[in-house]
Amino acid sequence: MLNHDVMEWIADQQSNMVSLLDDLVSIDSNTHDKVGVDRVGARIRAFLEAEGIACETTPVAEHGDALHARLTGGSGNAPVLLMGHMDTVFPTGEVARRPFRVEGNLGYGPGCSDMKAGLVMNAFLLVGFLKTGGPPVPLHALFTGDEEIGSPTSRPIIETAAREARAVFNSEPGRSNGNIVSGRRGGAFYRVRVTGRSAHSGLNPADGRSAIHELARKIGAWQDLGDTQDDISINIGIIAGGQSVNTVAPDAMAEIDLRFTAPDDEAKFEAAITAIAKNCLQDGVTGEVETLGRFRPMAQNDGARALTQLYLDAAHDLGQTTQAEFTRSCADSGVASATGTPTVCATGPIGAKAHSQDEYVKLDTFVPRAQAVALSILKLASEGSA
Ligand SMILES: [Zn+2]
Repeated sequence: MLNHDVMEWIADQQSNMVSLLDDLVSIDSNTHDKVGVDRVGARIRAFLEAEGIACETTPVAEHGDALHARLTGGSGNAPVLLMGHMDTVFPTGEVARRPFRVEGNLGYGPGCSDMKAGLVMNAFLLVGFLKTGGPPVPLHALFTGDEEIGSPTSRPIIETAAREARAVFNSEPGRSNGNIVSGRRGGAFYRVRVTGRSAHSGLNPADGRSAIHELARKIGAWQDLGDTQDDISINIGIIAGGQSVNTVAPDAMAEIDLRFTAPDDEAKFEAAITAIAKNCLQDGVTGEVETLGRFRPMAQNDGARALTQLYLDAAHDLGQTTQAEFTRSCADSGVASATGTPTVCATGPIGAKAHSQDEYVKLDTFVPRAQAVALSILKLASEGSA
């Protein structure tokens, strides 16, 4: 028989969860705001330590420190890993403009759904198992700080934690229909710098080499490249360049986002993007590519399929109609699943409109989503699949 005390404990926690969500959403934590992301980590750490849960911080130089909480106990050595990211895409100051607010059953505010609600859920799962006799397996939670830019510094930390785990639950927001995610595309972010030569645009323009003109041609070529395959997306999300309106532009810059499904397509399209970047039509103009971040595709193996089914069985036992789906966006679950450890994603509370002002989380989904993960952990432990 599974011990269901934890399920009952979770059932009463919605208002406490919303209160911690308020605390976390009220801290600006853009990926590049290390101080802010570390404040989110400190708040989670204080919450967990107040309940007697051991936490360890791994310092990260450029981005938010990683926080690792560990509950021992139960059968076997391999832990179940609950995972989530503390950074958001919103600029520092967004909280003051758009503070956390509740309207009926919906919570609003920067990062409320993606994915501070998931962080809250994971923290409460640890506390819930601790308060009801301890987890049936070692239970760990990892909170990282640079997912929104492809986890350049957290990736090895995630890989180490995922490798030692028997299963990973990444609490990105559940889809609006309640589905979890069993597969994701991979992605890579690039910055291209084009260097030309400046000249006076009235006096001697022929002496100049316009980096902006060169970049404009490349942008067309990259967009066309993105249209060559249905499962490929190429987005030029940022451009910059030039010095003054009356100077032939000596430099220009673009940031490019590549999304792919088949792992082999990453190298193929990276090579094509690079070739366009380097192939300059004007003499003396150069283009250089820098990789800013990468997401592994989240792929299915037998273990992941079994874990997905186990989660769906748990959800169905609880009367939920959850299904699993493939989604075109990327997440740290790709990093975890690339280690070979069975991984499911989007187990967090249900939300939508991520990365927009209209982002919301459904507050009455905190309890059922937490219970579905808790029951999955109980089922995993009873399978004894250490
Ligand atoms: Zn996210």
